[in-house]
Amino acid sequence: MSYYEQAIQPVRDERLVLGDSFAGTCGELLDCARSGCLLRQNRSFWQANMCQMSLSLMMAATVENAVIITHGPIGCGSTMHALSVGSNKGKVRRGKAPNPPVWLTTNMNESDVISGGEGKLRDTIIHADREFRPEIIFVVSTCAPSIIGDDVEEVVRQANEQTTANVTAIHCPGFKSRVVASAYDAFYHSLLRHIRLEPLPYRDYQPVDPSDPDYEMKLRRFEYQKKMTVNLFNATSIGPDDEAELKRLLGALGLNVRIFAEYCGADELRMMSHAGLNLSMCNVHDDYILSYLEERYGTPYIIAGMPLGFSATRAWLMKVAEHFGVEERAEKLIEDEERGAREAIEPFLPQVKGKRVLVCGGVIRSGTEAVMLKELGLEVVAVRAYHYDNGADPVLENVARELPETPVAVSHQSFEFLNQIRRYKPDLVISHGGTHGFLARAGATSIQLFDVDKPFFGYSGVFSILKRIVFAFKNTSYQERLSKRVKFPYVDEWYEKDPFSYIKK
Ligand code: SF4
Repeated sequence: MSYYEQAIQPVRDERLVLGDSFAGTCGELLDCARSGCLLRQNRSFWQANMCQMSLSLMMAATVENAVIITHGPIGCGSTMHALSVGSNKGKVRRGKAPNPPVWLTTNMNESDVISGGEGKLRDTIIHADREFRPEIIFVVSTCAPSIIGDDVEEVVRQANEQTTANVTAIHCPGFKSRVVASAYDAFYHSLLRHIRLEPLPYRDYQPVDPSDPDYEMKLRRFEYQKKMTVNLFNATSIGPDDEAELKRLLGALGLNVRIFAEYCGADELRMMSHAGLNLSMCNVHDDYILSYLEERYGTPYIIAGMPLGFSATRAWLMKVAEHFGVEERAEKLIEDEERGAREAIEPFLPQVKGKRVLVCGGVIRSGTEAVMLKELGLEVVAVRAYHYDNGADPVLENVARELPETPVAVSHQSFEFLNQIRRYKPDLVISHGGTHGFLARAGATSIQLFDVDKPFFGYSGVFSILKRIVFAFKNTSYQERLSKRVKFPYVDEWYEKDPFSYIKK
């Protein structure tokens, strides 16, 4: 049975080769993954890890006219308070109405865990439908109902017979996966199971009438428009500036671009199957939905890394150009864009030349950005990816080629991160949002690996990243003074040990 026919999708631990504990070089990481030894690597000591449910919520919170029901104890939904702000801002910046996401919880308590939470879930769905009249209701199935065996899919099936909204379930219990990236598959599985992804005739398009004397011409025009339409798949870490930059570049190749699936409503989601190509911006993010769309609707897809920096943007655009047979046009566009961007960054390059940088975050972004920083003249002292999966291999192969001796770790552990900072003493740390308070206390100058309010991709992205690096070096006194007054909870002996000494082989 295909993954897509199953009520609950497999987690990435079952679907891909995964790893969360490794230290070595990138070449060694690839060898270790391919020989199977990565699967046996673990730690004898762990601090907290992330839960896939929080990332699923992050995606669902962007969907327009939707209600989210977290089915579980009330605490599982706590991140919604912060997510509401980000999602609202993302909507406004994309020209949409600033409606904060509505979310409810079934608030499972001890007796629900003993006697089951299906009744509460059913009542909450009906209440959400009557009270808020959404187009979509996402039931987010957390650890507690998944452990006790609530039949969430059956509740969803029955609810769909009573509601005007489309009800679907995101199965994302935190305990079930060691990598948070499983959340992407959980979110997309919820769409492909119960949400219509096909346009409605007369509502979304005008069907061509076979008795029309211009039938052939109109049909060909309809097919041509579909063929030249590209669906670009976004992610919570990709901001509107990046979407606009890529839309601009693809538009210059004569393509019509639609962006999915975050910040879409039911009307937009219906158009997902109506395209000539599905295009990814991140190998790890959307392979699950892209292969579904190919299997179900025959739409080809391209996963060609992340267009971050000159060489990665060139490779990404050329892959698309090859698909449409417009290589010559793309070459000219790239030459022209690169010339402009290189002129713009020229004054900044001497200020960053030779600066030692540690790059940390999602595997695709940190690997691609490390190569970009090397291209710009910085010295990459280490790369630290949150997880490994074999979908990232093309990006990691490039890292292995470009930075063969650079230490590469697969780690999401703060104690290892701090040890690395003390050991490498980088001039700059480029890291995931949310870590910069920690980094300032450690005395490290840092900028964000991604920030949805700033451009990163394409040619405007190179300029913007470089400008931020230069700005970060202008004044480093805050972190220098703060680090003298803050003590971390680790004993001094820890910093004398190898940062990855708790990894068991
Ligand atoms: S790990 Fe489980 S209980 Fe904890 S927040 Fe995630 S889904 Fe909820």
